[in-house]
Amino acid sequence: MKNNSVTSLFKKLATIKSPSGSERDIANFIKGILEDNNILYFQDEVGNIIFRVGNIDAESILLSAHMDTVPPGDNINIEESDGFIQTDGTSILGADNKASIAAILDGILSVRNKINKNIEVVFTVEEETTFKGAMNLDISSLKSKKGYLFDRSAPVGTIVISAPYANEFVITINGKAAHAGSEPEKGNNSIVAAAKLLNLLPNGRVDTYTTFNVGKIAGGSAGNVVAEKTILSGDFRSIDKKNVDNLSVLLKNAIANVEKETETIIDLQEIPIVQGYSFKEDNKFLQETISIIRAQGLKPQNQVSCGASEANEYNARGIEVLNLGDGGESPHATNERIKITELIKLRDLIVKIIVD
Ligand SMILES: [Zn+2]
Repeated sequence: MKNNSVTSLFKKLATIKSPSGSERDIANFIKGILEDNNILYFQDEVGNIIFRVGNIDAESILLSAHMDTVPPGDNINIEESDGFIQTDGTSILGADNKASIAAILDGILSVRNKINKNIEVVFTVEEETTFKGAMNLDISSLKSKKGYLFDRSAPVGTIVISAPYANEFVITINGKAAHAGSEPEKGNNSIVAAAKLLNLLPNGRVDTYTTFNVGKIAGGSAGNVVAEKTILSGDFRSIDKKNVDNLSVLLKNAIANVEKETETIIDLQEIPIVQGYSFKEDNKFLQETISIIRAQGLKPQNQVSCGASEANEYNARGIEVLNLGDGGESPHATNERIKITELIKLRDLIVKIIVD
């Protein structure tokens, strides 16, 4: 196995512009590699690329990563220094998640004839925005009941064993407009109602693995008008489903109280956006994974995440998927970088997973 094959593949992938929803160029590049190597693939309606290699009758393992990147990523100039790959500082690097795509492809191609499992690979679209790729993936076309997502910007060896449930909400407070100077009595100020509501809601970290956030507020029309409408939106999340349910009740109660006190009409739209998951310490697949990581001379590091990933979607749909560290640093920022040795470790870990 050549170490520079994974780095040069990563650099090629990184320079292909691939904002969420416009993954065509990177998908074509990946399809070209698969075609050159006589690997059959399927591209579904939303643009996900799915292929399999290895022994179809053996145990199935899913390997997954996403093809899209966040802005700014239109013009990526790669630099290499002190053992890191980074950009010139004007764009993201896109190691999130192209390091994983490079490691999966290079890993597979370097040991193609020695793969003892049925390896199913899924490269998704639109992870960064809506999870559209993962949500529209036809899970029934996969044999795998377990597998790995490599989409955690953390040292290789990291295992995300738990990720949160999350609900998003939009609250619309309807007051009544009136001239603020001549007849304020005829109005009902929705901004004041919003302030009262905010006072009743939690803010920030509720407990170690539970958060609540109002992240956006907009209201009123002008300084001399009693504010008729105010809209607040936010999300709350927790590793523990019970906490999410409790916060949902708390939100509804707070709204009912403020509605009564201020005589406004408050509309709540609340949607669960992601289903959480937790692997117990003694979970067989988790134990297997820890052994593989150890066997590679790496340090397994279990992590509880407060952010969601496509692993949430896979687990919710019945495939046990662990999200593993991909070696990247500072994702979604212009100082994003990856250590070359981490990229090689990631590729080698993938080889270990598919060969052993
Ligand atoms: Zn990512």
